[in-house]
Amino acid sequence: METMPKLKTVLLRGARRRCPKCGKGPIYKRWLTMHESCSSCGLKYLENQGDLWGVLLALDRALFILPVIVMIYFRLYNPNSAWFIVFVVVVLVGFIFTTPHRNGMGLGVDYYIRCKFGDLSPEAQPPKTDR
Ligand SMILES: [Zn+2]
Repeated sequence: METMPKLKTVLLRGARRRCPKCGKGPIYKRWLTMHESCSSCGLKYLENQGDLWGVLLALDRALFILPVIVMIYFRLYNPNSAWFIVFVVVVLVGFIFTTPHRNGMGLGVDYYIRCKFGDLSPEAQPPKTDR
């Protein structure tokens, strides 16, 4: 039986854009193009394509609304402020730049939950018998 990594560990690995299982294989081929599986340990990154992953991505995208709301309010109270432009640029660039890192962390959470409850948990993998 494989030992299960801690949630903190998979999040750190995700933030470093590394495989949540072994922390060695890269998640991405390019900017946001993912490998199908880990080159180091062979873990399939997305077993149930779009299952939990979709939820995590949706949550991640939903978080984008928060700075937008803040920006709108900021704009209302500072309509002529040059800082608004700076603020918008910083938030957008920061958000876009960290996308692979956040996706990696989402993948880590996905892996963690799969280990605990899903297809990678010991209960979900009974010895295969042909009866
Ligand atoms: Zn791996």
